[in-house]
Amino acid sequence: MSTKNSRASFSSIYKGSRKVGTFTMVSILLFSILTINGAEAKEKGDQGLEKLYHVYTGDQYLGAVPEKEPVLDWMNSKKEELKKEHDLSAEVYLEDKLAIIPERVFQAPEKNGKVLDQIEETAIFKTDAKALKVDGETIAYVESEKEVEKALELVKKTTVSDKELSSFQDQSEAAEELEAGESTVTNIQLQRFDQAVKAEVSPENILSAEKAAEKLKKGTKKESSYKTVKGDTPEKIGEKFNMKEEKLLELNPNLEQLTPLKPGTNLNVIKPIQGVTVRITSAERVTERIPHEKKVVKDKDLLVGETRVKQEGRDGEKEFTIVTTEEDGKEKSQTVKDEKVTDKPVTEIVAEGTKEIPSKGTGSFIWPTNGGYISSHQGPRWGKHHKGIDIAQPDDYTIKTVDNGTVISAGNEGDYGNKVVVDHNNGLRTIYAHLDKIHVKKGQIVKQGESLGIMGDTGFSTGIHLHFEVYSNGKLQNPMDYLE
Ligand SMILES: [Zn+2]
Repeated sequence: MSTKNSRASFSSIYKGSRKVGTFTMVSILLFSILTINGAEAKEKGDQGLEKLYHVYTGDQYLGAVPEKEPVLDWMNSKKEELKKEHDLSAEVYLEDKLAIIPERVFQAPEKNGKVLDQIEETAIFKTDAKALKVDGETIAYVESEKEVEKALELVKKTTVSDKELSSFQDQSEAAEELEAGESTVTNIQLQRFDQAVKAEVSPENILSAEKAAEKLKKGTKKESSYKTVKGDTPEKIGEKFNMKEEKLLELNPNLEQLTPLKPGTNLNVIKPIQGVTVRITSAERVTERIPHEKKVVKDKDLLVGETRVKQEGRDGEKEFTIVTTEEDGKEKSQTVKDEKVTDKPVTEIVAEGTKEIPSKGTGSFIWPTNGGYISSHQGPRWGKHHKGIDIAQPDDYTIKTVDNGTVISAGNEGDYGNKVVVDHNNGLRTIYAHLDKIHVKKGQIVKQGESLGIMGDTGFSTGIHLHFEVYSNGKLQNPMDYLE
C-alpha cells in the first residue's frame, strides 16, 4: 500500500515551474481579492484587459490557463472516476488544495493543454479512511467505521459461529443469567488488534472489509526500519526477518559500504506482522451430582453384628459455571465460579449394634478351675481313649465355664457322673464331668468364669477331679489347644 506520491517525477520533469514564495502568494491573493471585488463593480469597464487563471496545487505553481472550467471539470470527473473505480462512498479529494487565482492581463495566454497535463501528472487524490492497526502497525485501510466493524466481525467469525456471535451481541450480562445446561459466549477479543484510526490514503489503498479481515487474520509483511545490534551481519538479519540477502540489498543499496555493520545502524527490512488471535471466553452452567455421605452410629439396643438404616441417604446436586478461554479454537484456561448447591445431599445414617450376646462365646477360654494341675492328658488310657483332660488339686472346688454360653444339659449321666454341657454358640461346646454339685440348669445362660458347680468324683472316677472335654462343630478336640 504505497502512499508515495509522484512529486519527485514532477519536479524532475517540470524543472522550469516556478515556486511561489509565501510573500508572493500573499500578494497574489490580496491582489486577486481586490481584483475580484473591483472586477464585480467595473467588469465591463476594464477595456483591453483579459482574464487569465493561475493554477496552483498547494504552493506548487503549475501555470496559467485562459479558462478555469476545464481544470475544474477534469478534477471533478477524476474524483467521480476514482470513487467508482474503488467502490467508495466517501469523498475523494486532492491532497493539495487546488487554487485557481484570476488575474487581469493585457494579453491572455494561448489555449494551452500543457497546464492540464501537469495537473493530471501531479495531482494526488486522497480519501478519508480508517487504518486498522495491529501491534502498532497499519495492516489495512478500509473506507469507514462501518467497514471496520464489518472486517472485525468477519475475523471473529473465523472461530465463532454466527449463532454464538449474535447471542453474544444480544446479551452482555448473559453469564449471570445462565440456567443449568446452558452456555454462552461472554467475551470475544481480538488480540494484538489495537484500534482503527483516521487516515488519509490514496483510493487504491482502500480494501474491502473481506480483504481487510483476511489480512487481519493472516498478518502481513511490511517494510520497516531495523536498528542493528552487536554481532549483526547481513546474513543474520536476513535470517531474523526471513529475507533473502538480495532483498535486503535491494532495500538497502548501500549495504556493502555499511558492512561490517556497526551496532545502531538503521536498515530497511521486511518485518512480519502477526495476525490477530480471536480470544473467546465462554461460560457454561453445569449440574453435578453431590454423592451423599455415610455415617455409622453405635446403637446399644442392637446386637453386635446387627445394623439398621436410621436415615436413607440421598445424593444432592450442585450447579456451577465453567468459564473457558479459547484462542483461535484452542483451549487456554478453565475456571469454575458461582457454585451453588441446589439440592443438599442427605447423609445415610446406619446404626451398628453394640449389645453383646451374653450366650455367645468370646472364642478364648479361661482355665475351668481355680488352680490345679493336669493329672491326665488326652490320649489312650487303660485300653481306651481318654477324651479329655483331668484337672486335680485346685485351690478350691469351684468349676467355672471357660466361656460364655448356654447350658444345654446339666445332670447325672453314667460314667460322667454329674455333667454339664455348655454350648458357646460359636461352634464350640465344653463338657464338665464328675461334679459333686451342679449349680446351673438346662437353658441357662452362663457368663465366662461363672460357676457351674463343685468339683467331685461322681461317675467313673478315681478321686476328686474335673474331667473336661472340648468339641468344635461336634468334633472332639484336644482341650490343650484351647486352654491358655
Ligand atoms: Zn477324665
